[in-house]
Amino acid sequence: MVLVAEPPTRKSMIPFTSWSFGRLSQRILHFFGTRYGPEYGRMNGEQGTVKAGDPDYPLVVSLCQVHGTDVLSIDRPLNAGQTFFGGHDAVLTNQADTLLTVQTADCVPVLLMDPSRGVIGAVHAGWRGAVHGIVVKSVRTMMERFDASLTSLHVEIGPSAGPCCYEVDTPVIDQLPPDVRDDSTTLRRTGPGTGRLDLKKFIQWQAVSLGLAEDHIHAVDLCTICRPDLFFSYRREGKVHGNMVSGIMLRTL
Ligand SMILES: [Zn+2]
Repeated sequence: MVLVAEPPTRKSMIPFTSWSFGRLSQRILHFFGTRYGPEYGRMNGEQGTVKAGDPDYPLVVSLCQVHGTDVLSIDRPLNAGQTFFGGHDAVLTNQADTLLTVQTADCVPVLLMDPSRGVIGAVHAGWRGAVHGIVVKSVRTMMERFDASLTSLHVEIGPSAGPCCYEVDTPVIDQLPPDVRDDSTTLRRTGPGTGRLDLKKFIQWQAVSLGLAEDHIHAVDLCTICRPDLFFSYRREGKVHGNMVSGIMLRTL
């Protein structure tokens, strides 16, 4: 994966922006935010919303995230001011000029795209959502509702709690699939009933198990817990000081 700080047209996108999807399709923009921004999609309420953005991102969708597995599918034009009933941890669309956002601190932002079918998705996946299949369900919904294809789907996995720091115990470990639990590169045991979990690798494993090509799956190798210079972290800070916003958008051709 190529990480570059260009084009740093907006200060809020510095110091870390990933534009790797841009190499695949000029039609799709995406970013993984840092503690410095961007501010698109910040939540102020309890409901998922559509807000007017700016010329770069005309409409911005943000979700009421609940660590669940409900996927919001948007297949028609939205208007600023609309709200979504209920909680969602993933959002998909085939609509242009609509920025899909998710907010994370230590959880994993996962961005999905099928450039050939013109469909994108943004997913918030903590261990609970990942175990319960939010990423798998999102990919399947992209295929069933938007005609996405496994052969052209790409997955970008953003900064999250890393295996260097993310210690979990029995209640988490017991819910991992046996193949993941027994793979020492995904769960490094640190003691009786404890281990360091590589959440990003777990999600990669899920995507490969679905049939996605390994070279269509990229992960940003940065840990939110041990990089306070870049990221907020619930684990490190002990409470929510803030979240990072990640987003993806189809552009009008
Ligand atoms: Zn770390």
